[in-house]
Amino acid sequence: MISGAGLSGPAEVRRSPDGDLPAALRIRHLDVTFTNRRGEIPAVRGLDLDIAAGEVLALLGESGSGKSVTARAVMGLLDHPGVRVRADEVRVAGTDLNGLHPDRIRALRGETMALVFQDALSALNPVLSIGDQLGEVFRIHRGLSRRAARAEAAELLRLVGIPAPDRRVRDYPHQFSGGMRQRILIAMAVALGPRLLIADEPTTALDVTVQAQILELVDRLRAELGMGVLLITHDLGVAAEIADRVAVMYAGRIVETGTVTEVLDGPAHPYTAALLRSVPDLEQPGDLLRPIPGSPPNLLALPTGCAFHPRCDRATQRCPADRPERRPLAAPGRSAACHYAEETVDAAV
Ligand code: ADP
Ligand code: MG
Repeated sequence: MISGAGLSGPAEVRRSPDGDLPAALRIRHLDVTFTNRRGEIPAVRGLDLDIAAGEVLALLGESGSGKSVTARAVMGLLDHPGVRVRADEVRVAGTDLNGLHPDRIRALRGETMALVFQDALSALNPVLSIGDQLGEVFRIHRGLSRRAARAEAAELLRLVGIPAPDRRVRDYPHQFSGGMRQRILIAMAVALGPRLLIADEPTTALDVTVQAQILELVDRLRAELGMGVLLITHDLGVAAEIADRVAVMYAGRIVETGTVTEVLDGPAHPYTAALLRSVPDLEQPGDLLRPIPGSPPNLLALPTGCAFHPRCDRATQRCPADRPERRPLAAPGRSAACHYAEETVDAAV
């Protein structure tokens, strides 16, 4: 148990009347629009997302599809001019952030929801020891003395698997390897026992072995702390490794959801199918990679109907004319926004 580290155990978490934990994240109809000289950029459009407590959802999609913007919107980090964030509901562990005062949202950051970025070196302060940086969280949020905060910091380093934590709390960021720094960022994110951890490409800068260790760490913390995890990645291998469910994003919309096995073994959206064909298959090393034809859409001039239709090998006349809503498919929790979802699944298996 990681008691003492300020980590509220599941018993302290607010429960719904039937005793179930509230969903870690529930988003309904999130829109994020940037306005600049070139016009309005609809980066996220009508996004719905659900993550249960203790569940890992991988948000997949090419660069520019709106994954990071979604994360920043949830964290309340888009509160500045030139950005419009609108939603019917953004509920984190039962609390609706919609319309909440920025001060209240700031208070929830760290306590209830936390974000881990890709680049650990720029996220850490180079002139503060790790113990002071981690300890600061406990001094500010828990009112601990410097000495007590440092002891908690060492406990956190132990939790995330850093050897000799009592000694290493005195070290500075540059004295750690990239993988160890990423562990420290994760430690900082989980310090106060958040119910939702958002990890935005947390392993992209790391080599494959270290990447696997970090994913293992995230998975262990999810199990021990019962957090929901939104894992943002463009790497299908990473998704397959630890996610329970997958949501695929294209041009600001979720185009497909399902369990990892469902989506990776039998994609229902032609975009997902194309994404899968564009990465190496470890089981068939001789296979030719087929990059997705065309280029990602220009958000300032989105194609009519289904935004993927100009790149889609299954598109018919219907696709530019009639935008497919995301709709449920046979299995629970499985959905796709394609007129030809059933045919696409059949073609895959
Ligand atoms: P990714 O899926 O790669 O994380 P992002 O969520 O970062 O993509 O960005 C989605 C789109 O939102 C980008 O393609 C860009 O057009 C737009 N965008 C993001 N940040 C800004 C910004 N600060 N100003 C204008 N447009 C932005
Ligand atoms: Mg991103």
